Amino acid sequence: MLRSDYLLVPIHPLDPDPGPGSWPRRGPRGPPVGLTLVFVKASPQNQLRLLELADLDAELVRLARRRQGLPEVAELARLEARASELKDAIVQTETELSDLSREQSRAERDVEQVRTRIDKDRARLDAGQVSAARELASLQSEIESLHRRQGDLEEIVLELMERWETLVSRRDEVAAERESLGSQMEALAAQRDAAFADIDAHGAKATGQRGEVAADLPADLLKLYDQIRSTRGVGAAMLRAGRCEGCHLNLNTVDLNEIRAAAPDEVFRCEECRRILVRTAESGL
Ligand SMILES: [Zn+2]
Repeated sequence: MLRSDYLLVPIHPLDPDPGPGSWPRRGPRGPPVGLTLVFVKASPQNQLRLLELADLDAELVRLARRRQGLPEVAELARLEARASELKDAIVQTETELSDLSREQSRAERDVEQVRTRIDKDRARLDAGQVSAARELASLQSEIESLHRRQGDLEEIVLELMERWETLVSRRDEVAAERESLGSQMEALAAQRDAAFADIDAHGAKATGQRGEVAADLPADLLKLYDQIRSTRGVGAAMLRAGRCEGCHLNLNTVDLNEIRAAAPDEVFRCEECRRILVRTAESGL
């Protein structure tokens, strides 16, 4: 909010923090004393009901934290990351297999060509078409060299087949892991959904109860409570044995004396956690 806008906001006695609705009163030498007295007044019964509201809000905060920190959610995220890695690995292996397959076909074609050439040369030889000694020697030497070439190419084909088998078994392993991961993830998602449903059922119950308590409270007190709750999660805390149960601050004697002396419908706020301090029989006053 711009400062000029802020100045346009009408000063309302119910606004808390730091506020027109409350003021950090100062001791004789300046430092604020430990309590904030609020303009809102409320009967002790209504102040006590704030503690019911606070309990329900604390429950709602707990449920929201549980929902966020559910171990199933973290585990699912881990498994999803692994599944994505496996998917990439499968794609990569499939690509390698397809490249290999092309290489294999090429090598087999080469072998076939050499074989055909050998057969042809042999046929010429067998048919006695070559009679000149030099030509004969050259043809025989070519057949020998073609045989060597055939051997080399067949070795390449074998090597490619071995690589193929290795890749296929790697792809199958990855696919099997991915499949088992899939069933684990399904089971986990079911567990997570059951936990969500349980949390949401408790949340709906607490919200319903909260609505009932809130409906009975005076609007100004509820507004103050809700404003504190929006930043603190819970808007009120019990004063128990001289201590704020919200932030565990021990109030000093001066503050306790002030609360003791105050009318029962005065509403105090803890200076440390800013929550409404509710007096009970256990407040140690
Ligand atoms: Zn406090």
